[in-house]
Amino acid sequence: MGALLLGDVAATSGRVGQTRGRTEKTAAIADLLRRAGAEEIATVTAWLSGELPQGRIGVGWSSLRNLSRQPPAVAAGLTVAAVDEVFTRIAAVHGPGSAGIRAGLVTELFAAATADEQHFLRGLLSGEIRQGALAGVVTDAVAAATAIPTPVVRRAVMLSGSLPATARLAVTDGADALDALGIVVGRPLMPMLATPAASVAQAWEELGPTVVLDAKYDGARIQVHRNGSEISVFTRSLRDITGAVPEVVRLVGELPCRSVILDGETMAVTDDGRPRPFQETMSGFGDGGTALQPYFFDCLHLDGADLIDEPLVERLSALDAVAGGLRIPSSAVTSAAGVAELFDAAVAAGHEGVMVKAPDGRYAAGRRGRTWQKIKPVHTVDLVVLAAEWGSGRRRGRLSNIHLGARDPDGGPPIMVGKTFKGMTDELLAWQTAVFGEHETGRDEHTVYLRPHFVVEIAIDGVQRSTRYPGGVALRFARVVRYRPDKAPDDATSVVELRDLDRDGPTRRDRGPTRRD
Ligand code: AMP
Repeated sequence: MGALLLGDVAATSGRVGQTRGRTEKTAAIADLLRRAGAEEIATVTAWLSGELPQGRIGVGWSSLRNLSRQPPAVAAGLTVAAVDEVFTRIAAVHGPGSAGIRAGLVTELFAAATADEQHFLRGLLSGEIRQGALAGVVTDAVAAATAIPTPVVRRAVMLSGSLPATARLAVTDGADALDALGIVVGRPLMPMLATPAASVAQAWEELGPTVVLDAKYDGARIQVHRNGSEISVFTRSLRDITGAVPEVVRLVGELPCRSVILDGETMAVTDDGRPRPFQETMSGFGDGGTALQPYFFDCLHLDGADLIDEPLVERLSALDAVAGGLRIPSSAVTSAAGVAELFDAAVAAGHEGVMVKAPDGRYAAGRRGRTWQKIKPVHTVDLVVLAAEWGSGRRRGRLSNIHLGARDPDGGPPIMVGKTFKGMTDELLAWQTAVFGEHETGRDEHTVYLRPHFVVEIAIDGVQRSTRYPGGVALRFARVVRYRPDKAPDDATSVVELRDLDRDGPTRRDRGPTRRD
């Protein structure tokens, strides 16, 4: 096996970008992975899912735009290993003059790359090819390339929180090693996600006759690990934020246990316990200034026992035993009317809605399980901003009407499903106008086009079939609720989930989630 070339990866990435079918994408990537050695496979899987093994290396979108304009090299010579090493060197640059040194390294790298390789590197460094759905396709490709059953690989990725590490282990140690992977206290696993429910009645019908009903707190997801006196706190995307949440660390440190993993939400609250606006929670994450209170809804490990394969009710008993005082309010409900009543109460108390959960559901790490369904007073979906049009009249000179894309579950670019200029305050218009330029990929007379970066929460009355939009589905009465800096494009609502909101047909609009009939 010769050393794998950057050109091989760029060619595969190009092929994946051009085909729409998941099977062909998987096959193309598996083909490449079979040619990668143990040293290369972690790097290649990371790159193809749009990530750098080094994490952020401090090469921003705007500096990239200037530095990457080098005349392309004629012949491909860069190996995967050599490029990876350059990224490591760039990441290690610190101190005075670091911008210049970094710029020099980037310039040199682009000068040694062919046009196709430059295109790939630009996408990789700018985050443009970062797509969670693509990580799913790469996971399937690792399974195909190593002849290990896909569910075994997927489980290992969820538990280790790392696709590159899993790919490497699959190649060096095989299926048994993946099977033997367990939870490690201190190492984050991917959080379970929720599916939007079309209505209270539907969620209860699907998960009942008895459901666990939690208030849905409007904060930010946290996963807290404690091993003895060692405590770490991770975000939804597994970023370590231990230093930013001292109150969480203090409270978890006082719990009566040796080791525990808790899943929950952190939120800024007023003195009388009402939730404060989401923006305050997000800013608390950044500066550690706002006291952020933890509220837990699940327990994944307690004193040596892994609980993710236990039914929810068992996990909740463990949660009660160890952190009953920090639990999100929750009750067992046995009727649709009961669900509707608690839904109204949760909203009246200032919460975002409710989560309806199946009592016997396992913890589906990293997946959008149907055993957790979220219900809010209005449907909201998280969409990617694809472009923005210049406003007219009072909004002249401001970027106003935004184009909205849903995630392609097969790893392609976001699929446009609508536009909106509703729900925007003057402050928001000014913000859009100020920051959109940093992520611009081009413009024409009316519109500025953006790379997938911003996720915005949009309220809708529903969806309808559409022949105008490429996904066959369009939003009805879309308006902006808020931007979601805690979410990345791969966390956006998928086009399949959007189509599913139409499951009950056009009359569903008359049976909103708050109605009890
Ligand atoms: P969404 O962000 O709208 O997809 O809703 C799912 C999120 O709701 C989860 O990732 C949690 O951060 C949050 N959440 C709030 N309360 C709960 C709860 N009781 N159970 C599960 N998730 C919750």
